[in-house]
Amino acid sequence: MMNRLILLGPPGSGKGTQAHALAIEMRIVHLSTGDILREEVRNSTELGLRAKSSMDAGKLVADDIILDMVEDRLRNSNASEGFILDGFPRTVPQAEGLDKIAGRLEISLEAVVNLQLDDEIIIGRLSKRVSCPVCSKVYNEDTNPPVVPGVCDIDGARLEKREDDTPEVIRQRLKVYHEQTKPLEEFYAEKGIMIVIDGDAEPAEVTERILSALDSNNESETTSDDRAKVESRD
Ligand code: AMP
Repeated sequence: MMNRLILLGPPGSGKGTQAHALAIEMRIVHLSTGDILREEVRNSTELGLRAKSSMDAGKLVADDIILDMVEDRLRNSNASEGFILDGFPRTVPQAEGLDKIAGRLEISLEAVVNLQLDDEIIIGRLSKRVSCPVCSKVYNEDTNPPVVPGVCDIDGARLEKREDDTPEVIRQRLKVYHEQTKPLEEFYAEKGIMIVIDGDAEPAEVTERILSALDSNNESETTSDDRAKVESRD
């Protein structure tokens, strides 16, 4: 089973929702750099204070801060059993840094799931997004509302709109995505571990698409491993 994954895709493509569902289904750790940073901001930690102005402006937090944060989490959670990285890496230097971290921890990354969605759909989705500050569950006021308006189904907390989900900051985040994160597609396509998924469907349908793509990827890997074994026996 492939269980060391990266979820790549623009803001609003459903990374958080999908990573949450996959982590439960596959019993692996969900690591969202955005969620970790928002928690640091809420707790007014030194890291939170350093990150806040970039986040409010829809810009990226410095690579070295993010890399230290991710290495720390990968070392100190039960991530050895498997993990899904959501919102990281976001730049080529972060991806290179992740390779070094993986080397130090003696683990390998098995698949990069690239969720695709058009900018117009993204803008529509993000302007309707509300989320739970306690458990991070994401809702859409139109297409995926909570049972009681404004209240999280899971823990009853008051749902909030993210501060960076304003039209102006959404546009800035999309610009950053196209300029700094898109180049990662080539980085991972060259490594031969990228799976492209159309994210324009109901959340449960997208989860199905991802699981079946990971499954068939797994099978083709097993087949080529078996072939290698047979060949080495000859
Ligand atoms: P997200 O929840 O993934 O949309 O992230 C929200 C904000 O946190 C981003 O707009 C960035 O300011 C910051 N952030 C999250 N992940 C990263 C990352 N890997 N690198 C740099 N900044 C990040």
